Parts: sequence; C-alpha cells; structure tokens
Amino acid sequence: ENYHAVLTENRKLFNELQELKGNIRVFCRVRPFLPGQGAPNTVVEYVGEDGELVVTNPTRPRKDGLRKFRFNKVYSPAATQAEVFTDIKPLVRSVLDGFNVCIFAYGQTGSGKTYTMTGPDGASEEDWGVNYRALNDLFKISQSRKGNINYEVGVQMVEIYNEQVLDLLSNDRILSTISQNGLAVPDASMYPVKSTSDVITLMDIGLQNRSVGATAMNERSSRSHSIVTVHVRGKDMKTGSVLYGNLHLVDLAGSERVDRSEVKGDRLREAQHINKSLSSLGDVIFSLASKSSHIPYRNSKLTQLLQSSLGGQAKTLMFVQLNPDAISYSESMSTLKFAERVSGVELGAAKSSK
Ligand code: ADP
Repeated sequence: ENYHAVLTENRKLFNELQELKGNIRVFCRVRPFLPGQGAPNTVVEYVGEDGELVVTNPTRPRKDGLRKFRFNKVYSPAATQAEVFTDIKPLVRSVLDGFNVCIFAYGQTGSGKTYTMTGPDGASEEDWGVNYRALNDLFKISQSRKGNINYEVGVQMVEIYNEQVLDLLSNDRILSTISQNGLAVPDASMYPVKSTSDVITLMDIGLQNRSVGATAMNERSSRSHSIVTVHVRGKDMKTGSVLYGNLHLVDLAGSERVDRSEVKGDRLREAQHINKSLSSLGDVIFSLASKSSHIPYRNSKLTQLLQSSLGGQAKTLMFVQLNPDAISYSESMSTLKFAERVSGVELGAAKSSK
C-alpha cells in the first residue's frame, strides 16, 4: 500500500467514523454447534444480512415464541474469523490515527467469546481471533507509513478478578492505581512490541498467568475479565507532531446468572462481582447512548479502567456471543436483552419467521 492510497482510505474511514461518533456498535455472533453435542436443536430462526436476528422460544415454537432483534450485524455460525475481522478492520486502523477504541466480547460461558477475541487453543493463523489479527494489521499499516509517520507500539495485559486489577505480564500482580487519562493502568507492565511474534510470546505468558491460582483454567477465565491494551504512539516525521491512540480488547467474564440459593462462599462472591461489573458496563454504555449528563464510570473497576476509551471521541464495539442451543434459550434471551439495551434498539415480538 502506498502512502497516498492509505491517506485516501483514511479520509474515507474518518468520514465513516465521524458518523459513528459517540455510538456503540453491536455485532451478534452465533457460534456453531460443536461436534459431539448431540442432535442440534437451535433457537436461531433467521439471520438477516441487514443485522436482523429472529429467535424461537423452544417451549412455545411458532405461535407467540418468536422474538426479533436488530443489531449492526449478525453473523451466522458459518462466519469465519477472517470475515469477522474484515468488518472491524477500519475500527482497528483508526487507532493509528489517534482514536481510542474498545472491543468487547459479551456472552455466557461457552458462547465463543474467547474464540472471537483470541481464537481456539493453539490456533493457526487462519483461526486467529481479533487480538492477533488486530496487532498484525497495525504492524502492517505502520510499516507502510514508515518514514512519514513512525509508530511505537506497546502492550499491557491485565485481568479483573473480584474487583481487583491484576497484571498478567508480571509476577507482581496486584495493581492499585487506575488513572483517568493516558495509561489506563499506569503501573501495569508494558512491553514494546515490533512484530506479531512478539505479541504471540506476550499473550502466551499472559494466558499462562491467568490460570495461576485457578482450580481449572476454564473456570478462572470465565470468572474474570481480561483486557489486552495496545498503546500506539505515532510521530509525524514532517511536522514533528505526535499522536496517541489505544485499543482495548476485552474478553468479559461469563454473563450467566448464578442461582444464589445454590452457591456460597467464593463462588457467590465471584458471581456478585461479575454481576456488578457487567451491569455497570451496561449502565455506562446506556447512559452514553442516551446522552445522559452523568455517566456512572465509578461503579466498577472495569468501567473505571476503560473510562478514557468509553464515550467522547472513543469508538466502542461489542460482540454479543450466542450459544444457539435450545438448552441455553433463557441465557441467550438475557444476553440479547442486554445487547438490545446497550444498542438502544428495541423491536419486540416478531410476527413471522422473517
Ligand atoms: P467462552 O469464551 O464464551 O467461554 P469459547 O470461546 O471458549 O467460549 O467457546 C466455547 C467452545 O466453542 C470452544 O471449544 C470454542 O473453540 C468453540 N467455538 C466457539 N465459537 C466457535 C466458532 N465460531 N467456530 C468454531 N468453534 C467455536
């Protein structure tokens, strides 16, 4: 890509982004049935190219059991990692122009959040999730601008567990300071990265640290939020001016409701913390979307940490992950209702299957 082509593309991109200012985009991704799950019984009735999704209540099929939703995009189970990334590429690239971008994955445990953000365990390049693809793309574009704008890229990786922020890239794990601007967590270690292989090495360390102290890795990762933050500093070699952008890639804790009568002790505490932070996130996004004068950032560590990247000129995208299995119907409905609330579009009952 030559510099002029990039500039033209950026201008187009900038115009697109101006339209989206202050808005959150919600993309819904339905994961496929996994091998060995028995006879698939799906709640997904219809996936439209225009972002329409119709789901069926398995206990009241056909009659009054259809619900229609509309998001900015809906992916059928057949969508590939590459297709998903193509749609978010402009957003990712805007970080190199000095924007702050936040990309979340929301959904119950097992709905494909980690698959979308990171990819399956030991993913080949084809299966890479958003995290690797984003960094890879940022390196590619920054190379093509070299000499005109020179970039430096740094990565932090933290997790929020029981309202405590932990550094995933250091043994000194517990962090206390959260600043309002610039670095989200100033005392979390930050590593400069120059290539995708540097990123892979770091993420491996981070993912390993995430499992420390957990009885089983899956358990811990479904009960904490993990945040990869990419800091970009670009220096214009002609004018000497410097721009900063950052990209937060957030794999949220599982959104499933926990039956309070069934759990005690640690599990109950975890559930309460997750509940509180996910509902705070919903409240912040909802207040931003409804242009409220008070945005309740301070109600959770998650929203405090992401404050400078939620609202204002920042761009937010949420992947809402859906498990299509009829068994998950009630969890899926609560996921979709959350998504509907943050996207600000409520459609109500659907009349037909289309
Ligand atoms: P979560 O992070 O929400 O708990 P995972 O990302 O771990 O869920 O997904 C659960 C399982 O489903 C994993 O085995 C994952 O590889 C698989 N999976 C999720 N989404 C897809 C997809 N789009 N294509 C193929 N397999 C998927």
